[in-house]
Amino acid sequence: MHYLPEHDPEVAEIVRLEESRIEDTLDLIAAENHAPRSVFEAQGSIFSTKAAEGYPGRRFHAGCRNADALEELANERARHLFGADYANLQPHSGVSANLAVYFAVLDVGSRIISMKLSHGGHLSHGDASSITSKCFDFRHYGVDLETERIDYGEVSALADDFKPHMIVAGASSYPRLIDYERMAGIAQNVSAYLLVDMAHIAGLVAAGEIPSPVPHADFVTFTTYKTLQGGRGGVILCRQEHCQKIRRTIFPGAQGTPSLNMLAAKAVCFKLAMKPEFRALQKKTMENAAAFADAFVEKGYRVVTGGTENHLVMVDLRSKDLTGDIAEEALESVGIIVNRNVIPGDPQKPEVTSGIRVGSPAISSRGMGQKEVGQIVELMDQAIVNHRNPDALEQVSAGVVDLCRSFPVYISQG
Ligand SMILES: *Cc1c(COP(=O)(O)O)cnc(C)c1O
Repeated sequence: MHYLPEHDPEVAEIVRLEESRIEDTLDLIAAENHAPRSVFEAQGSIFSTKAAEGYPGRRFHAGCRNADALEELANERARHLFGADYANLQPHSGVSANLAVYFAVLDVGSRIISMKLSHGGHLSHGDASSITSKCFDFRHYGVDLETERIDYGEVSALADDFKPHMIVAGASSYPRLIDYERMAGIAQNVSAYLLVDMAHIAGLVAAGEIPSPVPHADFVTFTTYKTLQGGRGGVILCRQEHCQKIRRTIFPGAQGTPSLNMLAAKAVCFKLAMKPEFRALQKKTMENAAAFADAFVEKGYRVVTGGTENHLVMVDLRSKDLTGDIAEEALESVGIIVNRNVIPGDPQKPEVTSGIRVGSPAISSRGMGQKEVGQIVELMDQAIVNHRNPDALEQVSAGVVDLCRSFPVYISQG
């Protein structure tokens, strides 16, 4: 920081505190990651101020020569990375991307089926508290409470009965792979569009570590800042036949000028995601998630579905007679950042929950491996078991800082 401390010392101080929080805590939020410095440089670049309503070659502002080159480059990279016909990189967020897909091909009141929030879905998939449920008529499928995996029979029966115009696949806290081919078949049977929201897992897909929904879905949406390790923002991929509708719905339909600085960051993130180092990181992210699942099971915790096939593990704390809110608070007090999360069939309210969601992306990005995962679970267990014992918690805290200092996030990168 060169100018901020002088122009605004208060904000500069909060930024500095956040830097030390990031360095000295373990980030296990499955929706977060540490982005490379080059992504921050792109986000903080001169492109922060350019207005550029429209698309390359068809802008409603002058002076867009460089903006056009930037958006074209970013688009080409996105299409190449995911093997998509068309990419729209202008959505400001994952929710904006989903809203744009709904409004591009559906009418207000159209029928949609999606995964329920309490079984791992996302707010923007028609939860009662989301604007999406006020515009469209949603019905929800869930997981089989026995296997805790998506009940495709239920999806199929619901589709036959409800005749949706769109089926949404994708989740925020589902530790297993989704059978996109099967979802596409169910959608085809009822002539519904298939939208796959791969916000959490886009990095794993980009690396080829898990199957891609792109060949099976009409639309794919995602965010760039989760496993993909870029900055904040949303993306829509779709088949060529839908591209005009998506273009028009984003601009002028739902947004004005795109954030060109975020577009620059997306371009950088896609370039980095094509490198072998990125693929190795995504592989490690999955290995570390599997190591988390094993370590929790070894310590007597029940893990939802018994394991994981992606970057996250859902831990059922009922096996320790504890609720998610208490665990989240105890863990934060020792510098381990997780979120409480409802688990399938959860008897607790969403503010309380019976579970925590544990993600491996950020600790993998700072270079940690399976040995460190074992140490982290040991520290977590100590904090959870001793959540009423300040002396024990202080000891765990010291262990967390020690571990963090051995794996700096940004300091070593200069
Ligand atoms: C995180 C997430 C989103 C929302 O992304 P925002 O950038 O916060 O709007 C959408 N869908 C799913 C499945 C997500 O996990």
